[in-house]
Amino acid sequence: MLPNDETLFDKVVNLSKRRGFVFQSAEIYGGFRSTYDYGPLGVLLLRNVKEQWWRSMVQLRHDVVGLDASILSPPAVWQASGHLANFSDPMVDCRECGARHRQDKLDDPNACPSCGKSGSLTEAREFNLMFKTHAGPMVESAAEVYLRPETAQGMFVNFANVLNTSRKKPPFGIAQIGKSFRNEITPGNFVFRTREFEQMEMEFFVPPEDSDEWYHYWCGARMDWYLDLGMPEDRLRLREHDADELSHYSTGTSDVEFAFPWGWDELEGIANRTDFDLKRHAESSGTKLEYHDPASGERYVPHVIEPAAGATRTAMAFLMAAYDEEEVNDDVRTVLRLDHRLAPYKVAVLPLSKKPELIEPSNEVLGLLQPHWMCDYDQTQAIGRRYRRQDEIGTPYCVTIDFDTLEDRAVTVRDRDSMTQERVPIDGLVDHMAGRLPA
Ligand code: ATP
Repeated sequence: MLPNDETLFDKVVNLSKRRGFVFQSAEIYGGFRSTYDYGPLGVLLLRNVKEQWWRSMVQLRHDVVGLDASILSPPAVWQASGHLANFSDPMVDCRECGARHRQDKLDDPNACPSCGKSGSLTEAREFNLMFKTHAGPMVESAAEVYLRPETAQGMFVNFANVLNTSRKKPPFGIAQIGKSFRNEITPGNFVFRTREFEQMEMEFFVPPEDSDEWYHYWCGARMDWYLDLGMPEDRLRLREHDADELSHYSTGTSDVEFAFPWGWDELEGIANRTDFDLKRHAESSGTKLEYHDPASGERYVPHVIEPAAGATRTAMAFLMAAYDEEEVNDDVRTVLRLDHRLAPYKVAVLPLSKKPELIEPSNEVLGLLQPHWMCDYDQTQAIGRRYRRQDEIGTPYCVTIDFDTLEDRAVTVRDRDSMTQERVPIDGLVDHMAGRLPA
């Protein structure tokens, strides 16, 4: 049984705090609004989401390489990319209650969503979303730098470096995972929209005449990634932008959207960015950013297909998709049905009691499993409650060491989803789990 959508949001936020997925940042000082810290479980989930993205976008391909570019960058980069002039949202203030809103996200552009007052909103003003700071000890305009609002520009400014060092030629891509910063006017919906977040972006450089074909290819490939990791088909959709939504340089953009409790919203944008970025950086920097085919002698500026996803936002969507409650023996069991690859812990090792004679074999079992998978270890409380704790954080398997273990050197392996249990010899445990868990 899935909770209805109104309660799902609160339940997931509550579980995230209670079990250590996500904490409010600087909580002991009253909390720093719209920034979050990923706790012991959240950091594992987030790492797994990023790892799965990297695996599919870089490791399993011969035509994509990785990059880790700097977060701080000089104004010249953002001047060329257009962010200094255009990376802004229309902001309105309510004259009645003082609340500040993003005009393009209002259901009713004439009424304040905070106090409901009609006609109280100011004219919209463009607000640039980039965070500015100063490099070095002098607070002067010559020292101004920006925290990147997207990872993508790192790939464009390194295009020639990568081309010259990696022996790749179009079609090829550069992928990057990292933090981005946007001074959002209205952050909210938990980690959905924050001022500091992580992105997973890839710029795929192609011959101009092939760009439409590659755009459609990446739309399909990216949808498949979410579905393969267990997103239910009916909660995921690809929405093509209308012509009036498209950036002036884009010939096609589609969003991967997830059915959040508040409605369909974006997880990822896939855009055909044409040759806009490379041309802008070539003009501004005076560096040639093009491909020269030595065989044909042909020279051209590649077009770019960009799948740009949010890691933190996607991790939250996976949590929401995985959250389930079911009735078991007149009780409600909460279970995160996360794909095994995403689950923070793959196995929990649980001695039936704290008796010293069970701790020794439990440590042995833990030592066998830990080199292969992220394991939890818990020896407190009744075993039934410990199973429920593991269900609630999505651990696919619990391994219990009991007094029979001392006789038969076997343990009980319990499956999170079916709750079935089977007896497995310690000596064959790693092989047994290897048949069920990702390497
Ligand atoms: P939105 O319309 O939601 O503001 P966007 O279209 O500006 O997003 P992009 O610039 O395409 O977003 O960024 C790519 C991805 O980065 C988004 O699909 C989203 O998953 C993630 N992202 C963007 N802004 C934020 C944010 N403030 N907090 C968390 N994730 C974000």
